[in-house]
Amino acid sequence: MKAPALLGNARLPRWLLPAGWPERDGVPVLARIALEAGRVQSVRPASGPDEPDPEAWDLAGTLVLPGFVDAHTHLDKAFTLPRMKKVQPGLLGAIDAMLADRVHWSPADVHERAARGLQWAWECGTTHVRTHVDWWEPDTVPLAWPVMAELAQEWAGRVRLEQVSLIKLPLFEDAAQALRLARQVKATGPHALLGGFVHSTNWSENALRNLLVAAQACDLDVDLHVDEELNASAAGLQTTARILREIGFEGRVVCGHVCALAAQPEAEALATLDAVARAPITIVSLPATNLLLQDAVTGRTPRLRGLTLVKEARERGIPLLFASDNVQDPFCRLGSFDPVEALGTAALVAQLPDPFDDWSQALCRGDWLQRAPATAAPTLAGAKADLVLFTQADRHGWPSRSATRVVLREGRVTHGDAAPFLPR
Ligand SMILES: [Zn+2]
Repeated sequence: MKAPALLGNARLPRWLLPAGWPERDGVPVLARIALEAGRVQSVRPASGPDEPDPEAWDLAGTLVLPGFVDAHTHLDKAFTLPRMKKVQPGLLGAIDAMLADRVHWSPADVHERAARGLQWAWECGTTHVRTHVDWWEPDTVPLAWPVMAELAQEWAGRVRLEQVSLIKLPLFEDAAQALRLARQVKATGPHALLGGFVHSTNWSENALRNLLVAAQACDLDVDLHVDEELNASAAGLQTTARILREIGFEGRVVCGHVCALAAQPEAEALATLDAVARAPITIVSLPATNLLLQDAVTGRTPRLRGLTLVKEARERGIPLLFASDNVQDPFCRLGSFDPVEALGTAALVAQLPDPFDDWSQALCRGDWLQRAPATAAPTLAGAKADLVLFTQADRHGWPSRSATRVVLREGRVTHGDAAPFLPR
């Protein structure tokens, strides 16, 4: 199929439109997106019926988003559930099941499962995936680590893959060892980040400080699992914000989960968020696994749902993304490496207003993972024409009926049926 030169009558989300974009009855007017050489050349308000143009598609109001970032996944663990026996409920039970599964891991096994995950991500319209990789030993690089580096190369140009070392905090207790770990991560390449598992069961402020200092010394960005629990005294997030200020950290730190904020007294949680807003921290919320793993007791209906304070974070200007987390492993039996599913879950559990026009940016703002997130309003013009067209959804119900999509990569259809848009 020929790449279109123009996408007429596209419905873009409000957050992606330039200031002063015209509205009709309080709703942004449709857009005319001109494409050239795989990039978006311009975005203008559609001003009326276009001249018939053999290279133009008429989207007739179809919802359009830029390609997605899936900011937090575990490709190394994906699709391991079918070969497991009984898994105890909750986060710590899932960790035990995962440890027992390690006997099955080989480079070929990890490669096959992770590549399947990337294929699914590619098909749903994702352009950027960040995966954590379990890292258990201080002196041995885990076998999945070089496999991810290989996959990052194999998928370059289609899906940008970043990899994070998921190292339990006690391995950073010794400052020299923390630095050795950071150097190993740094040697992997610019797509690698230093990470850690920060939880009240392994809490050590000294180890967290060593982790952040080592990252700073190696000029690495950081991505942590933080306070993935409902223990109100979990202090990972507030301590991270404080240490970053004390050491003048210059990179970006992603804090994933931060469920404990939902269990803390409100004034304390909001004070922590105020400190986070002043730090180079991005929050990534993982609603599916929070629902499945928090307050999990066999035979008892969960009461506390574990989602962090997403509205209060956004209100303070803290960059916040939703992501998939675990897919078909002991942590989460569901999942499809489609971040739109994460937003669908969040829309319900957090009662999000306006998922399409506002909160969809929590799936698309890859710049929020970067060192210096853009302060200017995001724009499509000039970007790669990586676009997702939701052919059966409308803005009121989105992301319901969002499974059927047309995906464009650099202006060309890679997935879905674009026939209805073609000029007749
Ligand atoms: Zn995770």
